[in-house]
Amino acid sequence: MRYYLERNEPRTESDRYAVCKQLSYHLGSELCANAIWEEVQAVHPAIDPAQRAFLETCVARCSVTAWKPAVQTDVPVVSTKQGIVGMVDRITPDGAFSVIRAAGALPFGTYAADRLRIAGYALCLEEMTGAAVTGGYVEYIPDGVARFHTVQPRDRRQLLATLHTVRSIREGTVPHHPLNAPCNRCRHKERCESGGHRLSELL
Ligand code: SF4
Repeated sequence: MRYYLERNEPRTESDRYAVCKQLSYHLGSELCANAIWEEVQAVHPAIDPAQRAFLETCVARCSVTAWKPAVQTDVPVVSTKQGIVGMVDRITPDGAFSVIRAAGALPFGTYAADRLRIAGYALCLEEMTGAAVTGGYVEYIPDGVARFHTVQPRDRRQLLATLHTVRSIREGTVPHHPLNAPCNRCRHKERCESGGHRLSELL
């Protein structure tokens, strides 16, 4: 439903993500908040100065973790079979890939959306390299945590089902209101409530 409701909204990068993303280029080397902040301002001149404190927190937490430096960053990946493209944030010397997140980590494991992302990137990399990709890292920068997720068959099933749903929405299907959705903390709650759709959305 979120994809359906947000499909025509412009995508914008949050200030928090801008900070985490810029910090990620320095993982595996000494983290200097001053230098990173200058880069953040160069990339996002309008960034809220209050984000400097967030950067300090990220640097403090990431400084106590042993990160592998990247040999490649922002690597485009593609699966022509599934018709998807993406960008892997970091690839390390051992060939592992990682995705940067501006969210805090769960006490254990990874978020469902992150498992889907890892499955999508693994699928693309397998098609590009012809080699099996067992999983990838999700790097939760605000907590300084890197967590490896091993792709499970259920992740691949979920990915294929999601791609099928996305294609069908693009072809004009209006999705059903899902069971057990996290509606209470969703900004679309009013539009979605009662599980129906406003006539204006259908026309
Ligand atoms: S209100 Fe619920 S069903 Fe609707 S988009 Fe949000 S989480 Fe999904």
